[in-house]
Amino acid sequence: MITIKDISHFLESIAPLSYQEPYDNAGLIVGEPSSVVTNILVSLDCTEEVVEEAIANNCNLIVAHHPIVFKGLKKFNGRNYVERTVIKAIKNDIAIYATHTNLDHVVGGVNFMIAERLGLQHVRILAPKKDVLMKLVFFVPVENASTVIEALHRVGVGQIGNYDRCSFSVQGIGSFRPNEAANPFIGKANEVEQVNESRVEVIFPAYLEATVMRTLNDAHPYEEVAHYLTLLQNTNQEVGAGAIGLLNEALPAEEFLRYLKEKMQLSVIRHTTLCSPMVQRVAVCGGAGGFLLNDAIRQNADVFITADYKYHEFFDADGRILICDIGHYESEVFTKELLQRYLSKKFANFATILSETITNPVNYYV
Ligand SMILES: [Zn+2]
Repeated sequence: MITIKDISHFLESIAPLSYQEPYDNAGLIVGEPSSVVTNILVSLDCTEEVVEEAIANNCNLIVAHHPIVFKGLKKFNGRNYVERTVIKAIKNDIAIYATHTNLDHVVGGVNFMIAERLGLQHVRILAPKKDVLMKLVFFVPVENASTVIEALHRVGVGQIGNYDRCSFSVQGIGSFRPNEAANPFIGKANEVEQVNESRVEVIFPAYLEATVMRTLNDAHPYEEVAHYLTLLQNTNQEVGAGAIGLLNEALPAEEFLRYLKEKMQLSVIRHTTLCSPMVQRVAVCGGAGGFLLNDAIRQNADVFITADYKYHEFFDADGRILICDIGHYESEVFTKELLQRYLSKKFANFATILSETITNPVNYYV
């Protein structure tokens, strides 16, 4: 039997909650972690209509991209759609889970799905994040080093891009003197001891800190483990906003617009002037990605595809790049297919159903 907690753990192994923006509210919003999952409904937004769809499909968990609750709710009177959606979910015993900006910020997340639909190659994060990697240096008797390193690798330490089990070691002499209250693994009270030790260096994602330190202390033979822990300034190429990649072949700008319209199933594209005749390097950001324009320009993108652009912001293209605003809903709607793919591959015990509700609050009169 699979519980909601199992689903949360799985989704957070793909998109850790610590990668969400400070304003965000990703994670389990409504529901008890210990409930057993019947079926899952995946959707972009969670609205009352989506809750009704979940009831009709015998789903007791909705996994959505956008969190229905952003700010603290103080009253539950059904006066707005947020309160009504939460009330309906609780009354019908339906849990709501959101994987939002944390899913925007990972390889294989929202922006990689857009890149996949556009057939982009060599896709990477457009603006990799800083302050998400830590370095651990520790000292261990030479003969115990491999056991400790192995234990750390098992919890995700030393994984860098396409490489795992990465570490660096040198050997030297460690010296120490235990006092009378100590219970040393090597040596005696009040006597200076010298031991052949390895100095081991590893890096890991900062959100694993508690697990890593617990593992180090459990696997290490010493009572007091000599170590340094540092938050690195290095960017993590696997975590951050937006994505950038290449079309298989350069397309004339107007043809590219047709291609974009077809691949993302758009009825309209709001765009700046076609400033360069050909388009090949494509930057994308699902939802409101205007803050990434300069990253896209710096990395020589021919086009930046995002949503929620305002009139004056279009001027910022300034003949340097083609900005395409394809609509917030349209840019992210395929996220539900991405979630379905992850969940149905991992869990075969129940159905993961794609919501058919069109939650786009924006209509186009064409
Ligand atoms: Zn969004």
